[in-house]
Order: sequence, then C-alpha cells, then structure tokens
Amino acid sequence: MSKKVSIEIGHGGSDPGAARGDILEKNINLTVGLELKRQLERHGVNVLINRIDDRGFKVADFLAQAKGFNPDAGISVHTNAFNGTANGFEVFRNTNAFKTTSNLLCAGIEREVKKLGQTSRGIKESPFIMSSLPCPTAYCELGFLDNPNDYSRFNTPEKQRLFGTAYAKGILDYFAVEWKEEGQASSEAAAPPSTGGVLFRVVAGSFSNKSNADAQVKLLKSKGIDCFIAEYR
Ligand SMILES: [Zn+2]
Repeated sequence: MSKKVSIEIGHGGSDPGAARGDILEKNINLTVGLELKRQLERHGVNVLINRIDDRGFKVADFLAQAKGFNPDAGISVHTNAFNGTANGFEVFRNTNAFKTTSNLLCAGIEREVKKLGQTSRGIKESPFIMSSLPCPTAYCELGFLDNPNDYSRFNTPEKQRLFGTAYAKGILDYFAVEWKEEGQASSEAAAPPSTGGVLFRVVAGSFSNKSNADAQVKLLKSKGIDCFIAEYR
C-alpha cells in the first residue's frame, strides 16, 4: 500500500501570511510545498494538497477533504516572522492520540533540516490546522523571513526547494521508505522480467558512429531520462 500524505501550503491568494516588504510567506510556502509534493510523489507517495498556485483556501473544506483522504501523515508548510531577531526552524507536533508518532515524524524532519545548516528551535506541541486528523502531523516553520540572516538561508527558490526536499526525506524516513537520488533507476525498472514476460524497450535512435550515440545519451540524460547504449553487431 502506498503511503498517503496531506500537505497544507500555508496562506495564499489575498492572505499573504507573514510579510516583510515584498517578501511574502505565501510564496515561500508554495515553492517549498510543491517541491515536497514532487519529492514524495517521486517515491510513490499519494499526496493530497490544498493548493498548487497562489490562491486562498478554506481551512474547513481542506480538513474535510483530508479526513476523507485518510492520510498516514499531515504536513503544514509555513514560514515565521516575529520581531526581526528571532531565528531558526521550528516544528509543532500535534496534541491528539498520535502525539508520539507525531514526535517521531517531527524529529525526522528536524534532523534533515539541520543538515541544511539551519538551526532548530526544537519540536514543540500545539494543536495546529491538521491536528484534528487521525494521523501524525508536523507543522513546519522553516525560518524567520523578518530576520535577514535567517532569510539568507531561504532567499531563493533553489534554497527553498532544499527545505522541501529535507521535509520529504524526513517524512520518507519516518515511513521507512528508502530515499532515491534523482535519476537513479529503480531496480525493478532495470531488471528484465524473470518469468518470460514481454519486455518493451524504448528506442531513441540507432547510430553507426559511437560519438553520435554518446551525444544522444547525453541529451536524454540532460532531460532526466535514464538510458544506456546497447551494441548490436
Ligand atoms: Zn503561516
């Protein structure tokens, strides 16, 4: 059974969340959350998400949908602001019957975030948006956008995506799903069928000149398509 995760990307539309000038929490959350979704789906996780662009959402509607989805974990993606001097990641476990597993989930995410060099204010407890779901939840605040030093850790989409990846690694670790680097072919895909089944090969060109074949492999790999050269004599 593939795992299921509900993702709440905080704020959106007319609700910017925390803000400093034109730095808006809703935009940071969106970049982080979409990368989290992409990385989880790449590992076979089924994701329910509240938004995939800049639009608002009704908390009650999303929670009703999430309850029907019956997820194995719920993740909220937020960014903090306080008085300009506070800094660091913080994550809130839920307060319901899933408090213990929630703590494990939060610990996995926190560990991966620390690997990015971000400090942590620790795992705290609070009944946030997804706490009513019957599953462990983690409400993540990646850092303080009103602290220039903290913000320097997530001031580009590339850096924000690293947080999304870190969250995904933490969640997958909690599920005991092995992390696969991108472009790494799964062993099932690479192995031929063992019981005389039909094998469909995708051919992307035949070349009499090896360097032309190498160029084709390079092109395909640059597009994220894993491939190799087979010789026919
Ligand atoms: Zn928020």
